[in-house]
Amino acid sequence: MDRYRSRRQKMVDSQLRSRGIRNVEVLRAMEKIPRHLFIDEGLLDRSYSDGPLPIGERQTISQPYMVALMTEALALQGGEKVLEIGTGSGYQTAILAELADRVLSIERFASLATKARKALESLNYYNVLIRVGDGTYGWTEEAPFDAIIVTAGAPDVPEPLKKQLAPKGRLVIPVGDRHVQTLLRFTRLSEDPGDIRTEDLGGCRFVDLIGEYGWKG
Ligand code: SAH
Repeated sequence: MDRYRSRRQKMVDSQLRSRGIRNVEVLRAMEKIPRHLFIDEGLLDRSYSDGPLPIGERQTISQPYMVALMTEALALQGGEKVLEIGTGSGYQTAILAELADRVLSIERFASLATKARKALESLNYYNVLIRVGDGTYGWTEEAPFDAIIVTAGAPDVPEPLKKQLAPKGRLVIPVGDRHVQTLLRFTRLSEDPGDIRTEDLGGCRFVDLIGEYGWKG
């Protein structure tokens, strides 16, 4: 018996439904996936709290609401190949693995990638591949992607990620300065790479996206 189940249901009701998350598949995934398995021992008590938490390497697991909002924005139907930049704890990765066909995820820190792989394996998610490296280059060999999610704040949209988006593909990314960003959704409308719709999904605050097409160190 999962003793955290009631906390998780409360999280879904009071943090997600009440703030307008409507996608039933997103709500179902967040009710199902044990967030506490992605949290360090000393913080277990706060596993379902309404905010980010430290995960080591001075990085954080995102606030549950932000995970829900970004996932909803990807509008996954179940058959997609998804690219995630910033695996971190692997919690967002698990949500994606639940809702899409395949998830490829890139993380800068080997230590975080190792922990995330373990957590995902313990939950039997075998449709996930995690690589250590600079995700701002994307994952050329596996492109194009039906959906791309960047879970770190970027100064601008990394050009390779735009290129690796499939026609009709969605890219969700926080863009701004190092303190505050705007969550943006880019939708590639047709074969024409310039035919892109941009939508503003609101303000947010993420750790830095560090890399060739991100912040420099
Ligand atoms: N979705 C994760 C968020 C982790 S925070 C979670 O909820 O747990 C963002 C992560 O992006 C950090 O782990 C950080 O190390 C990673 N990151 C930052 N720049 C990156 C880059 N260029 N490539 C890959 N990962 C990066």
